[in-house]
Parts: sequence; C-alpha cells; structure tokens
Amino acid sequence: MLATYGLVDMHCHLDLYPNHQSLINECEDAGLFTLAVTTTPKAWIVNNRLAQVTRHVRAALGLHPQLVKERANEFSLWESYLAETRYVGEVGLDAGPRFYKSLDLQKQVFKEILLRCAKTGNKILTIHSIRATTIVLDHIEAFLPPGRGKIVLHWFTGSVAEVKRAIDMGCYFSINSTMLANERHATVVASIPFDKILTETDGPFTQIANRSSKPVDVVYAVEKLAKIVNLPATTVALRIRENLKALLS
Ligand code: MN
Repeated sequence: MLATYGLVDMHCHLDLYPNHQSLINECEDAGLFTLAVTTTPKAWIVNNRLAQVTRHVRAALGLHPQLVKERANEFSLWESYLAETRYVGEVGLDAGPRFYKSLDLQKQVFKEILLRCAKTGNKILTIHSIRATTIVLDHIEAFLPPGRGKIVLHWFTGSVAEVKRAIDMGCYFSINSTMLANERHATVVASIPFDKILTETDGPFTQIANRSSKPVDVVYAVEKLAKIVNLPATTVALRIRENLKALLS
C-alpha cells in the first residue's frame, strides 16, 4: 500500500464524523494535507480552532448550496469570517431535483460569495457543481476574475468540453475514488491535464468497504488515478503534492 505521507485530501467534512478530533490526529500522524470543508458558517469557529494548531489540516469557510434554502440568512456571518481564512468551501450550486427549487437563491448567494472573494483576493475555493456545471462556470467567469482567486472544482460531473472550458479559466479538479468507479466520469477525468488534478475523499459522503471513507482513504483515489494515467502510484502521489504546492503558491 502507498505511504500516506504527502497525500492530499482537498475536500473532507471532518466535522460530520462523530470523532472530529481523532480524525484530525490521524491526518497529522499520516502527514496528510486535509482541507476540512464546512457546510455552514456556524461550523467555522470549531473547525478553524481545531485546524489552526495542526501542520497538515486547514479549515475552509462554507455555505453549502444544499443548505442555502435554510441558511441564506447566515451569509452575513459567512462574510464576517472571510478575513480569517484563505480557504472557502463548500460553496457552489446544486440543480439536482431535491434542490432545484432553491436554485435562484443559491445563485444569489454564490454570486455574493464570489464577489467577496474577488474583492479580498488570494482565496482558494472548493466548489460543488452538481447538475450545474455550466452555470457554475458562468458565475465564476462573471464574478471572480482570474488572478483574484483560485478554483478547485470538487466532484466534477461535467463533460469533456466543460473540462476544457474550466481549464482555460485556470480551474483545478479534486477527484475521489467513487467518481472513478463511474466509467463516464473516469473518461472525463482522463481528459484533465495532470497538473490540474488534486485528490479528495468527500468523506463521510463516500464509502470504502461499506464504511464512510476517511482522509487516509484518499490512497484509493491515487491508486485508481495511477491506473488511468498509467503511472506508478508513487509518481502520481508526488505530482499531486506538486499540484497542491502550485495551487497554494
Ligand atoms: Mn462535500
């Protein structure tokens, strides 16, 4: 099995596990860069406090599109924390059947988030785009000019043409092992230039062997990616680490 040191989990909901602190300890022991995304601004304080004292875990300030209907009134809270972090997420749009009704409100909130990020500059955003790839890219193009922030498209389900559009806009992609189990998505992932690829688990929303995946399970995404690009997993892991460095630089 691949060594965990230096691996990257660019999108994990550490606060949604019963053992938040012990998972952070596991990431630290494993030397695994983990971005702890949040779904509501209220979750920011605890996530940031626990991450701040670590070497490898960072917290992101989020307002999840699936919660916008109930939580749009927390936008001012989100805004008040923005200066405390370089990382923003989970944010974005969800046009799936369960959340379609709130899409107009989601668009308003996402637009405001992008405008605030553009104004402050230097943010890194992890973005949800279920059934909304085109509108998400349209929003980024309109409200977050290149050079004012960096985008990581998380669990991207768009087309090869949309990959090309996102690449031209400078976006990165974070890939999880569940995505790669789907043949169509794996084909789309194969079209992404390797220097724009990062890995994620999106735990606890993905499963490994019938349990919620944890950040250390990002090793499965690395191994599946290695098969797709036909390189040794150790090489893929090193290159993803370099991609992370380039993203953070
Ligand atoms: Mn997520």
